[in-house]
Amino acid sequence: RVKEKKCRQTSREIASQRAKTNIIAPLMEAKLKKLADQYYGIKEFRPLQLETMLTTLKGEDCILIMPTGGGKSLTFQLPALAAPGISVVVSPLISLMEDQVSALKKQGFEVAMVTSATPQPEQAKILRNMADPNSKLKLVYVTPEKISKAKRFQSAMEKSYEAGMLARIVIDEVHCVSQWGHDFRPDYKILGTMKRQYPNTPILGLTATATEKVLADVLSVLHLSHCKPLRAGFNRPNLFYEVMEKAANPPAVASQIADLIKGRFAGQSGLVYCFSRNDCEVVMSHLSKYNLKVAYYHAALSVQERKEIHHKWLRNELQCIVATIAFGMGIDKHDVRFIIHHTISKSVENYYQESGRAGRDGQEAQCVLMFTPSDLFKITSMTCQDSSGIGKSYEVLGFALSSGCRRAALAQHFGEHVGATECKRMCDNCRSTVPFVKQDVTYYVQEVLEIINKKEKDLTFAMIIAEWKSKRSEKTKKLAPGYLDKIIIHCLKEGILKEKFKAGMYKPISYCEEGHYTRAVKSGTLKVYLDIPTPHTAQFIATSAISAASASVSSEKKVPTHSVLMKSKSKSTSTKKRKA
Ligand code: ADP
Ligand code: MG
Ligand code: ZN
Repeated sequence: RVKEKKCRQTSREIASQRAKTNIIAPLMEAKLKKLADQYYGIKEFRPLQLETMLTTLKGEDCILIMPTGGGKSLTFQLPALAAPGISVVVSPLISLMEDQVSALKKQGFEVAMVTSATPQPEQAKILRNMADPNSKLKLVYVTPEKISKAKRFQSAMEKSYEAGMLARIVIDEVHCVSQWGHDFRPDYKILGTMKRQYPNTPILGLTATATEKVLADVLSVLHLSHCKPLRAGFNRPNLFYEVMEKAANPPAVASQIADLIKGRFAGQSGLVYCFSRNDCEVVMSHLSKYNLKVAYYHAALSVQERKEIHHKWLRNELQCIVATIAFGMGIDKHDVRFIIHHTISKSVENYYQESGRAGRDGQEAQCVLMFTPSDLFKITSMTCQDSSGIGKSYEVLGFALSSGCRRAALAQHFGEHVGATECKRMCDNCRSTVPFVKQDVTYYVQEVLEIINKKEKDLTFAMIIAEWKSKRSEKTKKLAPGYLDKIIIHCLKEGILKEKFKAGMYKPISYCEEGHYTRAVKSGTLKVYLDIPTPHTAQFIATSAISAASASVSSEKKVPTHSVLMKSKSKSTSTKKRKA
């Protein structure tokens, strides 16, 4: 009962302190500004930074959604320094924490970090300080593992709360609590109990990821019923987006990359993202003959080697790093001028995050996505185990195949609207003067369906293409070879074909089967169209068919154009529209 009484008293204290914050908001604002200038050399807050800080200082729960590099750390560091109490900061990456902790310590603040590597006596001292009204401790960084598994840490938090000292719980990369996000961490689940356990302590969640679905999930998992999410814009106007057709074999691909690094990006700093360690090494082995200042980076290198490469790149002694996405979160280099994706990312979300590491200084930077249809199967054979994985991979496909504005497509993915004029020709499709033409490819699709129909065993997509090539009809013979792949991949995206996975020796193998719309295409009630840039129309169908084709294009103007199909919902409606 004594404990209960103490708790009631504590919560009254917290409430009165917060009420004061509300009244003295202008004073608080001045204090925050002074701290920002004094300790960070920051004269002006960016949009939503101040609002976030005042919200959490008032004791309200808050989720801030802001692109990477937007300045989220400031929104919890300054309130922690400006007001009484202790902020517990949950962060998924030890390296990120280390950077922040050492920077704050240098400024003379009392901050601590509790991970599984923290020596016992040091940890005991930190935990004692968390509930000691006389300690100057401001911020305690902690890994989700520690919160979820260490009873001692949990009990220190309880004591801190009971002593009225738990000022806020900050959850960095808060999308990790959601299974719909691109980065789910099981240990983040424990954070769902925080609101019930510490009802008077506000939660501040930070993320750069914010599809509506993930956001709704985050709010529900964390039990934040009164929380107003603050959302900063996702459009990165200084990034130029481009999709480049990827060459057919590794040496040729490396030559494309080398051309970019030596040519367009000469003297600039950048990254090449690869799908796997093996890809990194293969790319690197072919790049080595071009005499570039490039190294590869992946999880199999020793910690020392990785550090060395990272630092050389930071100092611009290396122009470029060929890396897996293990090299990512927490990169703090502001003048990255280009990000080349050797393979498509596994989701649009991932692509946005990975490409978003370019141009953090606000200067123009370029994002080049190298795309070849067969890369899709690399991705889906990895994402197929995850219930929403395949759908997400097809969204990337939509992005890569689209003839519309890339920026608009990315914005749409985050529930934002960016008109094509707002792109200011900062994507390949907006800059291009070559119009796309809708080509009726129904005939070819029917040929593919026939091959699948006659099969005696499951066929992979490569088998289908081989079969298709060997039995080519007169009409198909006139088709430029690259378009066979494109037509098949388009069918997958549209649900005319479907992938089916079977266990393989090392990983699942993707086979082809009939999709939801197969019958409609077979019967001819659903026509299939492919967007083709006009100089390619000549390549697409080699000769005489051209005039007939362009005639059919104009006569089919009434058919609703299929825009970028980023959302699976809009996908089915659009396909149905075409059926009608
Ligand atoms: P995020 O966590 O959102 O990815 P960070 O908190 O790491 O971003 O901040 C990225 C960079 O932006 C840091 O170098 C930080 O000092 C800087 N920054 C933050 N806020 C401001 C501001 N208002 N003005 C100038 N620079 C800022
Ligand atoms: Mg951050
Ligand atoms: Zn555009």
